[in-house]
Amino acid sequence: MNFRLGFTGSAILLLGFLSPSARAQTPTPAPTTSSSRTRVVLLGTGNPSADPDRSGPSVAIVVNDTPYIVDCGPGVVRRASAAFHKGVAGLAVQKLKTAFITHLHSDHTLGYSDLIFTPWVLGRKDPLEVYGPTGLKAMTDHLLAAYSEDIDIRTNGLEQGNRTGYKVNAHEIKPGVVYKDDNVTVRAFLVHHGSWREAYGYRFETPDKVIVLSGDCAPSASVIENCDGCDVLLHEVYTQLGYDESKPDWRKYITNFHTSTKELAELATKAKPKLLVLYHQMFFGGAKDTEEGMLKEIRDSYPGKVVSAHDLDVY
Ligand SMILES: [Zn+2]
Ligand SMILES: [Zn+2]
Repeated sequence: MNFRLGFTGSAILLLGFLSPSARAQTPTPAPTTSSSRTRVVLLGTGNPSADPDRSGPSVAIVVNDTPYIVDCGPGVVRRASAAFHKGVAGLAVQKLKTAFITHLHSDHTLGYSDLIFTPWVLGRKDPLEVYGPTGLKAMTDHLLAAYSEDIDIRTNGLEQGNRTGYKVNAHEIKPGVVYKDDNVTVRAFLVHHGSWREAYGYRFETPDKVIVLSGDCAPSASVIENCDGCDVLLHEVYTQLGYDESKPDWRKYITNFHTSTKELAELATKAKPKLLVLYHQMFFGGAKDTEEGMLKEIRDSYPGKVVSAHDLDVY
């Protein structure tokens, strides 16, 4: 079942009774928004476009109020905070300490420094645990070096910030199970994303759901194999109209790096998800290239349940 956070009556009622200070950061009990233990929260459904309504790509899998973040596009921490204030207690900023990166494209990682530093400044004591492709450690080291003055002032100055919460354990992964705890088993699998040597999709198994995220990719058999009747498949997509309206060079790029509606309909027919969620939606065809058109293109050849995600949707 899905619902838009902004329209849940219980969440709105709860917010009405919170004091400004409580709304600022203190974790509060979440209203009952779903009987399910696992919730998939779309923190950002965008892509490189600076769309004010779509933050950079990021998804939170929240299990028993513990968040697992996949990708950290720009806006990730503020969107998590928005979800928290609207009732997802597991997305309290200080709880953001486990993340998985699909690949190192900037639209998926521009919020990485935000994820490292903002929860720390707001009180997180645990280091951030991050899993992702080769190059993640170097990116992490460079970001920590870039902010060394900030770390120095906050820890050695009057702010007396803790000396652990800004630290990062960056784990460069290989395909297979990359993480396991009481809530989730996370399997990484390679997808085809143009000339990237390592781009991953992820399969999350929780006590009550199997969720698969494509990351960015052209049609990849690994997505079909890892979904295989999964509860929720989140998949990137562009419209056929966008392809038709594109110049030859751009067509060459998008067919190598991304997935069209037609291709996704074929893929989903084989993958058989109980729910297909479109995210990282790309509209290359100008004003006439719309979300409604995207959904129609999919539904023309895919009979399964499909929705087009927006920021702060929950499934
Ligand atoms: Zn992307
Ligand atoms: Zn990409």
